[in-house]
Amino acid sequence: MAPMKKVKQFMNPTFLSQIVMALAIVLSFVAVVIVTIHSGKHISTKLEPSECKTMVVVASGDTLGKILIDQGLSNADVNTIADALKKDAGISTLRADNDKIEFVRPTETDPVSKIVVIPSPWKQVELTCTDDGGWKCNTINVERDTRAVYKTGEIQNGDSFYVAGIRAGIPAGILIDVYDLLAFEMDFERDIRAGQHFSVLYEENFSDGEKVDNGHVLAVEFQALRGDVRMYRFKKSDGTTGYYDENGNGAIKSLKRTPINNAKVTSSFSTSRKHPVLGFTRAHKGVDFRASTGTPIPAAGAGRVVARGFNRGHGNYVKIRHNGTYETLYAHMSKFAKNVVVGTNVRQGQTIGYVGSTGLSTGPHLHYEVIKNGTHVNPLTVKLPAISNLNDTDKKKFLEYRKTLDNGIEQLSKNKNWFIQM
Ligand SMILES: [Zn+2]
Repeated sequence: MAPMKKVKQFMNPTFLSQIVMALAIVLSFVAVVIVTIHSGKHISTKLEPSECKTMVVVASGDTLGKILIDQGLSNADVNTIADALKKDAGISTLRADNDKIEFVRPTETDPVSKIVVIPSPWKQVELTCTDDGGWKCNTINVERDTRAVYKTGEIQNGDSFYVAGIRAGIPAGILIDVYDLLAFEMDFERDIRAGQHFSVLYEENFSDGEKVDNGHVLAVEFQALRGDVRMYRFKKSDGTTGYYDENGNGAIKSLKRTPINNAKVTSSFSTSRKHPVLGFTRAHKGVDFRASTGTPIPAAGAGRVVARGFNRGHGNYVKIRHNGTYETLYAHMSKFAKNVVVGTNVRQGQTIGYVGSTGLSTGPHLHYEVIKNGTHVNPLTVKLPAISNLNDTDKKKFLEYRKTLDNGIEQLSKNKNWFIQM
């Protein structure tokens, strides 16, 4: 395709192949886990005309043993296959409604001679029965063709960013990632106005010319009230990737201002002290976000759960210590997340509980507190540190990369059907 080539040339292929391509390849496994929009497609293996194949989609409650025995395999086979999958392919559990297993028999009445475990559209694990009755395991990575596509949109009267994003043709899964990124810099409740423009550069993964799923957000821009917010995905020399602003400052902060995306602020932080006589004017040491009962509450940042319990005011609450400086508290939960107890290490975004109205609460909402060095601070305005910053070498590389990517984006903005071949 000619236009694609043109962009490629424009973007200096040697540079891209070093930076962008490495980034895409290294992260391809992560992409499968995080964003699997379309999992229905699989790549069929080559079959002899007489071979008989059966596809099983793993259902809730299924175990590997049950599925294999249903297909006529022995308990000894089950053990050998489970060991091989764990040792050679790193697969120890099956995921319901996602994983598929194909059974191949030489003819309909023969025992199974080959098993293909398909955990994602990009990976197949083939188990072949050997002459001595064992099973040989072989992992095949399905080749993917990744393209970076560019979408732009505008906020119209009464829009949420989500509505405007969908209208701009940005897939829901990509929009959720964009929300997560922008939420470090923006307050979606107050920073959204009609007339604001935004753009997203993200990956689409193809196999055999057919789109399979979306990959990562590579760049995002939003004309916010306080100025343009721009973020770029970049791979550091140590192999880790992160998002950085146009100057190369870390864009991912150690805490999120609003743990629940797009939730309305119903009560702000206030330091007015409790009135000694009247008793009812008191400080609000956090921010309230309206959300319906059962909405998952993600941890604002990575850390360790230091309290999980009930008190009269907070109802069911969880407190997380993030580092020597910051703690966060989440109150009025209807229930706690399973496996989140005192001492659990949680990652940023991990569900720790669910919105409710327990304790002193007039309706379902999340009460969220940020505590800095033992003092409550306003989550919406406190200056938060970046998780990862660039060293001088990486910053120089980043600035070159950003310039190249910006040039590519400019081309894509003028030519709606173009994409960047990764
Ligand atoms: Zn509150």
